[in-house]
Amino acid sequence: MPLVSSALLKVLNSCIDFLFPSACPLCGTPVSTHGELCADCWTSFNWISNPKCTKCGYPFPANLDLGNRPLCPKCASGNCALDFIRAACVYDDVSKAAMLPFKHSGRIKYFNFMSRAMMWAMRDMNDLPDVIIPVPLAWRRLCHRGYNQATLLARPIAKAMKVKIDLDSVHRIYRPDMGHKNAKQRAENIRGVFKVVKPERIKGKKILLVDDVMTTGATFSELKRVLMKAGAVSVSGVVFCRVVKAI
Ligand SMILES: [Zn+2]
Ligand SMILES: [Zn+2]
Repeated sequence: MPLVSSALLKVLNSCIDFLFPSACPLCGTPVSTHGELCADCWTSFNWISNPKCTKCGYPFPANLDLGNRPLCPKCASGNCALDFIRAACVYDDVSKAAMLPFKHSGRIKYFNFMSRAMMWAMRDMNDLPDVIIPVPLAWRRLCHRGYNQATLLARPIAKAMKVKIDLDSVHRIYRPDMGHKNAKQRAENIRGVFKVVKPERIKGKKILLVDDVMTTGATFSELKRVLMKAGAVSVSGVVFCRVVKAI
């Protein structure tokens, strides 16, 4: 019976491929693998590779030789938002043009290439997490948007890592958008918005946070504060893109 089902599935998949050939999710150019970007779109992103800060993933200029375990000034002074952070690419006009419709206009299929790029960004992560937590949205925002883009990104990552995803141990209260506030204002605005409602699920756990974009790291820092208070062992994070300011 399972043989028949898998054969049938293959036929159905071939029919679907024939009727709906795989196309680049950004520009519609035909591609060989479903959900993949075409070569032109792929090369338009500013993907982060080495050399980078071993702790927060901050990208350094390509010709800078800082030895085996380089740290950015922020991490070297012990001010990293989390224990380990990785981002697939830099937040610029290209990633912004993909991120906005993904987040606000229901282009949820982008999760495919974004989550794959995030897994690639975590390839030097030594320690697997126990639990993956997508950065929670406030209920009001979730009802308005209909989905949490961080959860869309977190699901395939959790599946690939074979790690449990936790969607309800941390709640977020609604606060108006942070908009263009500076780092200090963002940190003040986010303070106290997260609440661990099931600390027994957090205690003793290595947590991996998943989000779409990292701006100043204030959201990650605040989440780490409440998770460590609830007994987490470590808190890491991965995003699709991050703002990179000169340091
Ligand atoms: Zn394309
Ligand atoms: Zn760093």
